[in-house]
Amino acid sequence: MFKTQELRIGWLYPTLMSTYGDRGNVICLQRRCQWRGLNVTIVPVTQQTEASIFKEIDVIVGGGAQDRQQEIVMRDLRGAKAEAFKEKVEEGTPGVFTCGSPQLLGHYYEPALGRRIEGLGLLDLVSKHPGANVSRCIGDVVFEITSSPLAETLRKQLGKPPIIIGFENHGGRTYLGKVEPLGKMIKGYGNNGEDGYEGAFYRHVIATYCHGPLLPKNPFIADWLIQTALQEKYQAEISLDPLDDSLVEQARKAMLKRLEVNC
Ligand code: GLN
Repeated sequence: MFKTQELRIGWLYPTLMSTYGDRGNVICLQRRCQWRGLNVTIVPVTQQTEASIFKEIDVIVGGGAQDRQQEIVMRDLRGAKAEAFKEKVEEGTPGVFTCGSPQLLGHYYEPALGRRIEGLGLLDLVSKHPGANVSRCIGDVVFEITSSPLAETLRKQLGKPPIIIGFENHGGRTYLGKVEPLGKMIKGYGNNGEDGYEGAFYRHVIATYCHGPLLPKNPFIADWLIQTALQEKYQAEISLDPLDDSLVEQARKAMLKRLEVNC
């Protein structure tokens, strides 16, 4: 059954929201499926695609963007398209949204210049840029996933706390309402450099400021997305064949040493 299965990766606005190398998240999901003999199709969601596109998507990836591109995206992701997207998330479709994307999943994003960009209101959070003269949040990040049940699932699978390694580059600061933080900061700014939170977690959606790209540096997240997408799609318990991630482990160890983080 596994070999005949297919995963369809929805990529949000590839030409507008792939700043900071987040296309690496799509490539990572694609390759980790192909290495397991799974058929994969990448489905770009663009200004030209209709709302019905979301019906054929099993996992959604949204990347980062400059303020101006975010405005263009939000002018398109409205009405039926926005409703179709929100429906997919509410019914349990997994997704990973980086930086500019999660800002748009919240209630609004106030950029440094120009007017407020109304968001989808899917995540109970708001994002505000403190002004062009305030330094951006830039640098390496390390944080521990704490959101439930994701943290428990990963801790059981890894046999240790799920630690995320990456980098951040954002001017906007995000403030959570009733939505769970994805994790707690160990190194870096995180959502706003004040409350020690990173990202947000809702249903099967991971929202994070972490570029890297995130998934190649933290492959257990990629596998969680693949497994969750297959389980939701085929309504069956799915276990993925393990892959040799020894090189990644070496790189992670080297990075934690360089950042003087013991965890
Ligand atoms: N434009 C947004 C900000 O500066 C998002 C940046 C990004 O996607 N890295 O906060």
